[in-house]
Amino acid sequence: MKRDKNYDLIVVGAGPAGMTAGMYGARSGLKALVIEKGISGGLSNEAPEIENYPGFMRVGGMELAEKMKEQASEYVEIKELEKVKTIETRGKENGENVLVVTEKGSYVTKTAIISTGTKHRKLGAIGEDEFLGRGISYCATCDGFFFRDKPVIVVGGGDSAVREALYLKNIGCVVTLIHRRDKLRAEPYLQNKLEEAGVPVLWNSVVNEIKGDKAVRSVVKYDKKKEIENELPIEGVFISVGEEPVNDLAAQIGIKCDKNGYIIADKNQRTNIERAYAAGDITGGVRQVVVACAEGAIAATSAYNDLLETNQRDLPLDERPRERLAKYGAEALGEEKVKING
Ligand code: NAP
Repeated sequence: MKRDKNYDLIVVGAGPAGMTAGMYGARSGLKALVIEKGISGGLSNEAPEIENYPGFMRVGGMELAEKMKEQASEYVEIKELEKVKTIETRGKENGENVLVVTEKGSYVTKTAIISTGTKHRKLGAIGEDEFLGRGISYCATCDGFFFRDKPVIVVGGGDSAVREALYLKNIGCVVTLIHRRDKLRAEPYLQNKLEEAGVPVLWNSVVNEIKGDKAVRSVVKYDKKKEIENELPIEGVFISVGEEPVNDLAAQIGIKCDKNGYIIADKNQRTNIERAYAAGDITGGVRQVVVACAEGAIAATSAYNDLLETNQRDLPLDERPRERLAKYGAEALGEEKVKING
């Protein structure tokens, strides 16, 4: 294992927030690195369609994530498929750094941005784990294709559930939405689209059990109002009941979270731990791609400003912006940064 490569900024998580943070950090002249356990884009990769990211009338989540990655990679290295195992703040004797240990190596950084996002919440139905990948999915864009012309259900009533249902309907699945209340949480625009598409909704209903043999064959559904349980022949179950924050790394360095586990950050994305910042869905609130990007930009700017205060203005330019500077000239980096660094 290689030891202790030194950075000014390490961003953990390469969703929209992390990629933007890395790009802003590197463009500020910080020696920055983004580390991602999977592939860049995070859960936005799973969004069938995004219609409210400014500048794009309509774009697939994966396509947008790819564009972001391409742009961010012009400036900053994104290490994918490298899981961060531990993160540790080190005291004055170690230069008040943060040690980031991954499956592949370890890194020392002066500042860290946590943009680890969220993961899918489980439904808690009997059979959920057993049939995962055999008829149960948390991602319609990933798995919907296998269920064309087949009866499927989407469980949930939020934006994601409605989008998943619309996507599945569009590709030819026989889709029904099941929601535990009599009102959807999804934005009215999406609710209208669902109605227009003719997707039936089973209201006040919960899925208690998912049954099958080699694959899913049925779900046991309970109607809370009528107090009736019945079994529906179903081949695909798409679970879309919200998300949970991925906060284990934040907890390791004592970053404070709210009662739901989302990191508490101020308007400059600073956390309670000095030189540790948070951005994107991990901070909760309005979980939208545009917000994640904005928070990433703010977090990186705060890291830059905090380092400027302590390190005086002698931050080295990272290699990638340097290449870009050579390629496109000073304007590419902005005059201020050029002055600062050279
Ligand atoms: P969400 O808004 O938290 O909705 C989760 C849904 O699942 C709710 O309808 C909830 O029911 C239901 N639910 C939760 N636990 C359940 C359980 N155990 N059994 C059955 N149903 C359960 O989650 P989301 O839809 O994933 O959205 C997350 C965030 O991303 C939101 O802020 C959303 O606005 C955003 N988002 C936006 C877009 C967009 O196009 N703008 C797309 C996707 C996501 P109740 O309603 O009864 O609580």
